[in-house]
Amino acid sequence: MTDASAGEPASGGDTGPTGETMPTGAGYHMTPDEFRARGAAVVERIARYMEEVGDLPVASRVAPGEIRRRLPAHPPTDPEPFADVLADVDRVVLDGLTHWQSPGFFGYFPANASGPSILGELLSAGFGVQGMLWSTSPACTELEQHVLDWMLELCDLPPRFRSDGAGGGVIQDSASSATLVSMLAARHRAGAPFDRLVAYTSTEGHSSIDKGARIAGIGHLRKVGTDDTLALDPAALDAAMAADRDAGLVPFHVTATVGTTSTTAIDPVAAVARVARRHGAWLHVDGALAGAAAVAPELRFVNDGLDGADSYCFNPHKWLFTNFDCNCFWVADRGPLLEALSILPEYLRNAATESGEVVDYRDWQIPLGRRFRALKLWFVIRHYGATGLAHHVREHVGWAAELAERLAAHPKLVLAAPHPLNLVCFRHVDGDDATRALMAALNATGRVFLTHTTVHGRFVVRVSIGATATRHHHVVSLADAIDELA
Ligand code: PLP
Repeated sequence: MTDASAGEPASGGDTGPTGETMPTGAGYHMTPDEFRARGAAVVERIARYMEEVGDLPVASRVAPGEIRRRLPAHPPTDPEPFADVLADVDRVVLDGLTHWQSPGFFGYFPANASGPSILGELLSAGFGVQGMLWSTSPACTELEQHVLDWMLELCDLPPRFRSDGAGGGVIQDSASSATLVSMLAARHRAGAPFDRLVAYTSTEGHSSIDKGARIAGIGHLRKVGTDDTLALDPAALDAAMAADRDAGLVPFHVTATVGTTSTTAIDPVAAVARVARRHGAWLHVDGALAGAAAVAPELRFVNDGLDGADSYCFNPHKWLFTNFDCNCFWVADRGPLLEALSILPEYLRNAATESGEVVDYRDWQIPLGRRFRALKLWFVIRHYGATGLAHHVREHVGWAAELAERLAAHPKLVLAAPHPLNLVCFRHVDGDDATRALMAALNATGRVFLTHTTVHGRFVVRVSIGATATRHHHVVSLADAIDELA
């Protein structure tokens, strides 16, 4: 073992406490051969996880502080054998995980990963490039531009978002960042004092809109009312924008949602676009979950009205088999975005940027540095093809419809909202306490994990179908369990 206090790296293949060879000529670094062997062990562990995840209780049951208590108070002085670290993943970490990749995960919205996306992510980490400028790794930028153009084609999205026109796409870390960035571009375009700016969304808009407005220093955020289906009411939006304008304020940004978080309600984007345009506001469409549905041609109603949007995003990291983080964000006109976010310090100047022939994605996002996220999306698209992506999304939507039919037929249950896609919301006829108790009983089985929302003031259980490992029989078992426990 190394005497780290002497500052000397180990040499000559010393053995660690478990007989494992410790760092040699590479100093403390893992050599390529060690990486090869240990990497194989990690891939094996992930494959085993995929095999066993369906047998583990879906939601973690650890108490607060339990994981930390299993960890040593102080970091190691000397290098530790990798085998020990990997063993501690099982000993310390595993039962502190809620298994989002479990076939019984029906909570929140899915965060589905897949073999090709995990491997793309690994390669991205292996290359370890920073793609902030085209010149810092041309492939990182060009593959991203290309994959984002492919995605327009795969989802039949408006060509005005293509990178060979005035617009273009970029991968953000999250839908929250996409909304924030759209607000910054719109704020720049509006050119008015921040305290006079007004942003709008519906009462069902995601909390990231509130956060974005707060970060962007926007004076006012109005939550417009919805109709029976919980979709934004364009007449109410129009009235709110007109009243604000009359009061000397500047309506500058509207977020419409395709697939709200509570119930997957779909705002009437075409009508909202007309209202936004009439008032000179930027329209951002947040399709965080639902956008992925457009890979199936018969579900392209989720694209209705998008040709009137200034920006649009959806999350392959929710429902398109691409592990977090991966948000596809497009703008119809990249001008205001670049003007809002471009800063070119001397140390980043380079001939390619100056030539004006390249895209520097640092100007399209909040941070400077950026990962090579396009790799995992490229892997996913090539592994599944348009046919495979559509097949699995279509399956989820079909299973949701089937589940909804069974729940609607149950004398003790009612559907709480329409189910246009892969989310079914229901409640117990005996009231909130009964609904809450039913959800708790289902989750207590450990076989499934469900989360809730409120709809029209009532407690409602959400069943969100979209984990990669979920099969038809898992949804049937869930329906059976609901039947039995309701
Ligand atoms: N918008 C909607 C409609 C969502 O449902 C969510 C998350 O569920 C978000 C935004 C936030 O997504 P992210 O975690 O990518 O910021």
